[in-house]
Amino acid sequence: MDENQEKIIEELKDLAIENEASNVALIKIDDIRFSSEFRDICETKTCGAYGTNWMCPPYIGDIHKLMLKAQSFKDGLIIQTIDHLEDSFDIQGMLNAGKTINNLARKLKNSHIIKKLGEIMVLGSGACGYCKKCSVLNNASCPFPNMAVSSIEAYGIDASSLAKAGNLNYINGQNTVTYYSLILFNQRK
Ligand code: SF4
Repeated sequence: MDENQEKIIEELKDLAIENEASNVALIKIDDIRFSSEFRDICETKTCGAYGTNWMCPPYIGDIHKLMLKAQSFKDGLIIQTIDHLEDSFDIQGMLNAGKTINNLARKLKNSHIIKKLGEIMVLGSGACGYCKKCSVLNNASCPFPNMAVSSIEAYGIDASSLAKAGNLNYINGQNTVTYYSLILFNQRK
């Protein structure tokens, strides 16, 4: 990585930590596992977002093409949030944690620092969630493309392999919820 990129990465790490990230780690995209099975999970509609958000399946696009797009990058910066829950039934706590990771992903995506990194892609966790009701449900285009964030799951990325690649714990104890964001980029020599 050239000196300039190293400095940018350090600034992004600081920005993430200042904005509720618990851990950050650099990884190689080759070290993470991709699988189209994650699309099958989306299609079961367990999280309720399938077909209700531009950034989720089926609208986000064919998973094989998305996996290839992600694999066109060589490097990644993982951002991990660990949030505490009142108990394992704390649904509101889980929803808040989902908002935290995607708000953080948006902040990083729109930071002036990241623009100096070259071509990038920023992913979050779960549905975009920026608008109360995604415009896809009104058959209208997304009015906030800079705020729209897709997920690691939609791109077929196995979050447990992300954690392993970054030497992070995938889960972090009783009554906690752990989420991931990923900045994909290419190191300059
Ligand atoms: S920013 Fe709003 S309209 Fe755009 S994808 Fe996200 S929720 Fe949907």
